[in-house]
Amino acid sequence: MKIRIKDIRHEGLDVHGQIPAQTVGFTPEDSVYFIRPLDVQAQVQRAENTVLVKTHATGILASSCGRCLERVEQVWSQDFLLAFPIDRQTESIELDENIRQEAILHLPQRVLCKMDCKGICLGCGAGLNHEPCRCKSA
Ligand SMILES: [Zn+2]
Ligand SMILES: [Zn+2]
Repeated sequence: MKIRIKDIRHEGLDVHGQIPAQTVGFTPEDSVYFIRPLDVQAQVQRAENTVLVKTHATGILASSCGRCLERVEQVWSQDFLLAFPIDRQTESIELDENIRQEAILHLPQRVLCKMDCKGICLGCGAGLNHEPCRCKSA
């Protein structure tokens, strides 16, 4: 998402855009990745030597449950404030890289498919949400 400095009016500028999931840089091989483009709403304000961008980003994040390893999809959304130093020569600012970094910082640390996920038995490998532990009968 590119913002041209001269488009920023005194009262600010509202921008809406998308950032491709590949730009954020996760793939299905990673433990978490975005399955759709990030949807980004930005309120842009210009101060003398700075452009401030209030950003609201939303995406769908796929990962594995930390206990049972089943695939989990969840809505991810985050607000952050970006500041870009500018001078007279600056014609535009590019948001993608900053949003990418913020997204990486704000990924969930541990995802569960549900709060009371029973996980996998370490003894028999049974997925305890769906089947009973077989350790005793074995
Ligand atoms: Zn689970
Ligand atoms: Zn077991």
